[in-house]
Amino acid sequence: MAASRSSKARVERRGPGRPRNGDTKGCPHCGHGTIEFNERSRIDGAGVPAWTCDNPACSVPYDLVRAQPADLTSQDLVRSSKQVRAGAIRTAMKSRARADRGARRVARSEHTLRKPKS
Ligand SMILES: [Zn+2]
Repeated sequence: MAASRSSKARVERRGPGRPRNGDTKGCPHCGHGTIEFNERSRIDGAGVPAWTCDNPACSVPYDLVRAQPADLTSQDLVRSSKQVRAGAIRTAMKSRARADRGARRVARSEHTLRKPKS
C-alpha cells in the first residue's frame, strides 16, 4: 500500500497511439486540408482536445476528441462530483494515516535512542 505513493514515476495510462500536440494528418472530411491536433483547441470559448482543419472551406472545421462536458446530464455531473468528493476524502484519510504512522515511527525511534544500553 505504501508503494502506491512512492517517488517512482507514475505509470503512463494513456495509450501509445494517443495524438500529441502538433500531430497532423490529411483531413478525412474535405480531402484537401490538413488536420492538426491540439489538446487545448479554442472551441466555443473552452480549451478542449480536438483536431482542427486548416481548410477554411472544410465541412468539418474541427473534430472533438471526446464529448464536451456540456453533453453530460445533471445526474452524470452529480455522480462525477460525488466521485471527486469521495476521492478527496480518501486522500485526506490516507494522508492522516501516513502522518500518524510517521509520528509513531518517530516516537518509537526516540524511545529506542533514550533506552540505556545494557
Ligand atoms: Zn478538412
